[in-house]
Amino acid sequence: MDSSQFREAGKGAIDEIADYYDTLAERPVLPSVAPGYLRPLIPASAPEEGESWDKIQSDIDRVIMPGLTHWQSPKFMAFYPCNSSFPAMLGDMYSGAFNSAAFNWICSPAVTELETVVMDWVAKLLALPDVFLSDGEGGGIIQGTASEVIVTALVAARERVVRRRLRDMPEGEEKLDKAADIRGKLVALGSEHAHSSTQKAAIIAGTRFRSVSAPKDTNFSVTAAALRKTIEECRAKGLEPFYFTATLGSTGTCAVDDLAGIAELTKDYPDLWIHVDAAYAGSTLVCPEYQHLCPPLAAFDSFNFNLHKWLLVNFDCSAFFVKKRKDLMDTYSITPSYLRNPHSESGMVTDYRDWQIPLGRRFRSLKVWFVLRSYGVSGLRAFIRKHVKLGEYFNELLESRSDIFSVVTKSAFGLVTFCVKPTPPHSAVANANQPNPGHEAYLNDFTPTAEAQYQEDANQKTKDVYEKINSKGEFFLTSSVVCGQYI
Ligand code: PLP
Repeated sequence: MDSSQFREAGKGAIDEIADYYDTLAERPVLPSVAPGYLRPLIPASAPEEGESWDKIQSDIDRVIMPGLTHWQSPKFMAFYPCNSSFPAMLGDMYSGAFNSAAFNWICSPAVTELETVVMDWVAKLLALPDVFLSDGEGGGIIQGTASEVIVTALVAARERVVRRRLRDMPEGEEKLDKAADIRGKLVALGSEHAHSSTQKAAIIAGTRFRSVSAPKDTNFSVTAAALRKTIEECRAKGLEPFYFTATLGSTGTCAVDDLAGIAELTKDYPDLWIHVDAAYAGSTLVCPEYQHLCPPLAAFDSFNFNLHKWLLVNFDCSAFFVKKRKDLMDTYSITPSYLRNPHSESGMVTDYRDWQIPLGRRFRSLKVWFVLRSYGVSGLRAFIRKHVKLGEYFNELLESRSDIFSVVTKSAFGLVTFCVKPTPPHSAVANANQPNPGHEAYLNDFTPTAEAQYQEDANQKTKDVYEKINSKGEFFLTSSVVCGQYI
């Protein structure tokens, strides 16, 4: 494909994408294909000779479209969203065109410098404490996903503890043995409702993982007392908690851990790295009405949220802020001779490879820059507020049919969790004075197992309704189980 063919193909592709977005709401959100649908539609191996673009493009409709789940559809209500926008798509297009690995400043100064500035814009937009700005000891870096951020933070936390413990020991075998002993005792912590990425990161880092309880009576949030209890239990067993993921918007119910209480607790555990995972809910911090959550963040080591979830930046884009960039660089900066250059050695530039696990990196800040400029602060706030209002409206609809539904956690950051009330047993219905009194009718039975029976029946009914909705393909919802309750 030469540049004139590219011009033509590109215009056609953009027309096709615009048509797709214009007609998205009319499509069922889930595809109806069976597993393995795609293989028979394309040859068993790559073509010997190149094909025309027309032929390739026509396969979007024939091969790809039937197997797409339409994440951008207004009927997609599963998982957390993965928003997109046209300015972000253009950013990705330019990024693909300039195509660089940009690990060191000199590999493309614009890639590094725009990222630094745009991450400062984002930190200010979210009213993050100043410690996360690049003009001090902190700063922001863009990673692909929250899971990558968490493993990056957790491994840096592990190495920070080891460095601190062995600060005065001379280099050598003995120090390496001692470091291995320390690593063998380390425990990473996260809420029982934290995303599984913390557990996965602990596996990758070769440390233990313990969950901190966050029961229904604290609205599924970790309290400072619960965290302290888990830390002390670990210590009593000779283990060393070194890292905790605090959640601002847990995956199951959008719970927020007690950030202010946990910030106080850091004074007693100065070696504990606390990372705040706000993967989904963090985007609401663009709105002043949510920014009361921000001041405690100053006590923590790092913070992340995914612009690709809810801030109109196409996948992938997870913003990772650290209070002390040195904590990352002390772990990740390894400089073989082929990576040396006068700019890096001058100490005047940022080399983001020293803050992260991979070497190469994409030009992701371009799409962030395009989105921030296209929507402006007011546009982004309006976008988030609209979604929050839709969540509140949905919550009201559920509550207006309390004969059928019970809301388990009220609309929080746009997320509502609910279950479907089971039909009470006949004996209970006889006592009841409503069409479906649900829980009360079960308890009217006065059997010791009535409560457990209610829960089991509610779980089954909710699961049945959930599966029925998704099997139709028109809408797509997500189910979960929180503290034994199917939602
Ligand atoms: N953290 C939280 C709170 C999440 O809800 C999710 C996913 O929904 C993740 C982390 C993982 O996100 P990613 O796909 O960016 O790794």
